[in-house]
Amino acid sequence: HAKSRGGNTFEFFSQAINRGVRERLEIENGLRDALKHGGFKLHYQPQVDLATGSICSVEVLLRWRHPVLGVISPNRFIPIAEETKLILPLGLWVIDRACHQLRSWRNDGITDVRVAINVSVKQLQDESFFKALSSIVKRHGLSGPDIELEITESAIMENLSRVQAILKALQDYGITLSIDDFGTGYSSLGRLKLLPIQSLKIDRSFVQDIETDHGNAKICDGIIALGHSLGLKIIAEGVETEAQKNLLQNSGCDAIQGFLIAKPLPADEVAELITQLNGTT
Ligand code: C2E
Ligand code: MG
Ligand code: MG
Ligand code: MG
Repeated sequence: HAKSRGGNTFEFFSQAINRGVRERLEIENGLRDALKHGGFKLHYQPQVDLATGSICSVEVLLRWRHPVLGVISPNRFIPIAEETKLILPLGLWVIDRACHQLRSWRNDGITDVRVAINVSVKQLQDESFFKALSSIVKRHGLSGPDIELEITESAIMENLSRVQAILKALQDYGITLSIDDFGTGYSSLGRLKLLPIQSLKIDRSFVQDIETDHGNAKICDGIIALGHSLGLKIIAEGVETEAQKNLLQNSGCDAIQGFLIAKPLPADEVAELITQLNGTT
């Protein structure tokens, strides 16, 4: 009996592992196919400047529907794209399409927003990244200051020495750099001060229960004070309620992003919202 039960247990786990491996492979192959034949699209989520109430930037968020597995979250497929290096061509595709979109908004008279693009540390470590990025930006008739890049705190802090030079080059080019998911990593004041960055994005986990969790409210206050003392702009992500917005505004937060303003939206819908909130120019 013991033996057959052992066999079943082994079979159970080995099937589960096989399923996991198979799904991962399916995602990898799906990514390759979508890069070749299309299948990705971009959504845009507004970031609102609390001093003016207008949309200052839109964050570019990748969307993908796998032909068999259906819609897959970037939290699931980006790590696979990173492991397989597919993030390099995929990342450039995102930059190209985002710049194309911004160009087209500019042509339509939307002149006062920028695009905030998420980049993986794998992209920053690629030697050809800066040249590829700047030539895309130029090709669309844009320049460095039109673009913001978001890099997660953990990725940047684990690779500080390896990304220092590229971050400096990006800054010299006029690109603004934000640290994403701030508060979840291990930044010391000393290391933060070394980075050529312009803003911090407070992680959603601190914002979501700011009304009820006194500790999280204090963390948000602390990040805002710390950031301001370093001359950084603070943006809160995942703002879902008017009460969260008010608390953040009273603490001196500079900008907010979240479902309270809008979900990530297709380009035409976000353009309508920009015209509504910013007025026509
Ligand atoms: P992120 O950069 O921190 O993006 C914010 C995530 O929070 C997005 O999830 C967004 O849809 C979600 N979000 C925004 N407001 C709210 C809110 O009020 N409430 C809640 N519950 N969620 C909100 P999404 O689109 O699933 O993206 C997940 C992550 O995938 C992103 O986190 C980013 O790290 C990564 N990602 C997305 N697109 C790209 C890309 O083009 N390149 C790279 N390298 N990473 C990307
Ligand atoms: Mg982001
Ligand atoms: Mg984030
Ligand atoms: Mg995130």
